[in-house]
Amino acid sequence: MNVYSDISSIKGVGPKTADNLRKCGIFNVMDLLLYFPRDYESISSCGNLKEGKSSNKVIINCKTLRVERDVKTKTGKTITTIVFHDGNNTLKGKWFNQPYIKNNFRINNTYTLMGKIEEFRGEIFIVNPALLKNHQVNEKREEKIIPKYPLKSGLTNNLLSKLINSVLGDVDIIENLPEHIINKYRLCTLDKAIRVIHNPVNLAELDESVKRLKFQELFTYSLKILMLKNYFNENRQGITFSISKELKILKEKLPYDLTKAQNRVVREILLDEKKSCPMNRLVQGDVGSGKTIVALICIFNVIKNGYQAVMMAPTEILAVQHYVEAIKLFEDFNVNIELLCGSTTQKNKQEIKEKLREGKVDLIIGTHALIEDDVEFQNLGMVVTDEQHRFGVMQRSKLTNKGLNVDTLVMTATPIPRTLSLYLYGDLNVSVIDELPPGRQKIETQYIKQDFKYKAYNFALDEMKKGRQVYIVCPLVEENEELKLSSVENLYKELNEKYFKGISMEILHGKMSPKVKEKIMNDFKQGEIKVIVSTTVIEVGINVPNATLMIIENAERFGLAQLHQLRGRVGRGKHKSYCILISDIKNDIIRKRMEIMKSSNDGFFIAEQDLKIRGAGEIFGFKQHGENNLILADVVQDIHLLKLANMEAKRLIESKDEKDINIKNDIYDKIGKTTRYICFN
Ligand code: ADP
Ligand code: MG
Repeated sequence: MNVYSDISSIKGVGPKTADNLRKCGIFNVMDLLLYFPRDYESISSCGNLKEGKSSNKVIINCKTLRVERDVKTKTGKTITTIVFHDGNNTLKGKWFNQPYIKNNFRINNTYTLMGKIEEFRGEIFIVNPALLKNHQVNEKREEKIIPKYPLKSGLTNNLLSKLINSVLGDVDIIENLPEHIINKYRLCTLDKAIRVIHNPVNLAELDESVKRLKFQELFTYSLKILMLKNYFNENRQGITFSISKELKILKEKLPYDLTKAQNRVVREILLDEKKSCPMNRLVQGDVGSGKTIVALICIFNVIKNGYQAVMMAPTEILAVQHYVEAIKLFEDFNVNIELLCGSTTQKNKQEIKEKLREGKVDLIIGTHALIEDDVEFQNLGMVVTDEQHRFGVMQRSKLTNKGLNVDTLVMTATPIPRTLSLYLYGDLNVSVIDELPPGRQKIETQYIKQDFKYKAYNFALDEMKKGRQVYIVCPLVEENEELKLSSVENLYKELNEKYFKGISMEILHGKMSPKVKEKIMNDFKQGEIKVIVSTTVIEVGINVPNATLMIIENAERFGLAQLHQLRGRVGRGKHKSYCILISDIKNDIIRKRMEIMKSSNDGFFIAEQDLKIRGAGEIFGFKQHGENNLILADVVQDIHLLKLANMEAKRLIESKDEKDINIKNDIYDKIGKTTRYICFN
């Protein structure tokens, strides 16, 4: 079977299933094989709880001790609790909205339960366990690992598993790493890795396969970066911009003095603009360091040279913010600015694209919508990508390719440790804005336990009395009452009914339409909304100087870099600002991380520390850094592997050996056919 065959050619895939698969980004056989489980469930059946704790699910024998009285939760659910004993430990079974479950259990009888074991405040729970009848639990521990696929649009785990296994029976995946690399790092074959990740027999084997696949991704990724670098170093002829006279007038009209660091970076960029080879520069600057104005000034010079410029932001809210800032800044300078986002109406989009082609737009600001093929320029001179870590290398180059040898500027607030940026941005020159505008105060940071969160809310009330505004962020998780994780909606309800009665408050999350989000953000900016309860959609770039308090719920669920980004939403005006991290300190690592947040406001320092304390642990963690197109690897967590992969990629690129050249060309060829960094056959 050819891995590029359309999914409709797979046996058992009808039009409906094909449609559903396409909605998940699965178009051909390779896409299907690269649709990796997001997690695994291990079910162990064992004699006792102790051994079962490490698994996601256990099958366990236990005796009923007593039935507790049902409780009603704030959100109106009924919780039934039955207390069991497994011979060693007490264990509480909890069921939601199934009061009748009690009828299945008799005191002092023994039952077989299957479910997830959770510990909370010293007690052991099994949540919504299934009661297994006629099931024998062996004394010997047995374990089964079941892949859990990300499920969307009508797909089921069983169906995916079935399709993937049927395809696996029909393909031979051809090895594509040089043999010496495989031997050197003791990697398993690509074929085995792909098979195992879908059907692991044990965790050791799974680890090995994940390592191989991560290496593959990082190796290909490194090749791509090095290739770009070579491309830029080939002395290409770019556009030589001169320094416009109007630039001086613009600088005099700025609403504030630039910081020394901003001035330096503006100079560095303008110098690049003057050079004949195309600029390829990264601007790194902590949150609030004022990157936008730097970019706009340099864009202005390009425009005044008669060229067009484009600025891409990762979210619509940000794009709008930049758009507003640009309009204000260029008010008296006759610059035509347009905004192009996903929510722009079809008719408007067509008009804007038309004007763009005719050269009637000088600066276009927008989101991913800018990458679409029919966005064409008359004479593009400069491409700016904001919060570049949100985009992949490929998206970046796609935008760049809309012009001929244009100048490229990418900006990021994710402070990337120097060690890492070398690998990530090997193809870029780097400018750093290492100074905040004057008058910024340190954001006072504290962490408190769940039980004391009312203190945070009271503090919020105090701030609001002073006229200030508040952000409350919670991690995106499904409701889990046992672990008391706050999902946005629950929290909103609780705050509304209990702490913030009568205060104008809104929810913001990623699933809302951009229009609604924008309206809420605007109302917040105007001060009509006092509190925003949000997921991390507010993470990047939002600027509301009157907001002085950031409360982060379940703070341990976020990475340090992300916490720092979130915190950076406050402390943007003249008022003293605060950040309160709500977290039960469950272990030393969490305490350490909270301490770092409390003691430092320096993004670079925080990022370095983050890198230090993150173990290799967690195979499938949240990804916060780097490439969107990496499926498994995380450039921060897997920095060790990235270093090795990068070294090998470099060696391969420099090699004159014919075999190596063939391998290199083969991989290049395949990167072109897919948007991912694992590709084969
Ligand atoms: P970031 O680097 O996080 O993208 P922004 O460009 O959004 O930061 O700037 C943050 C805020 O600081 C904005 O309100 C901007 O107008 C303001 N700002 C930028 N530079 C200066 C400066 N030199 N002096 C005072 N305020 C500034
Ligand atoms: Mg910004």
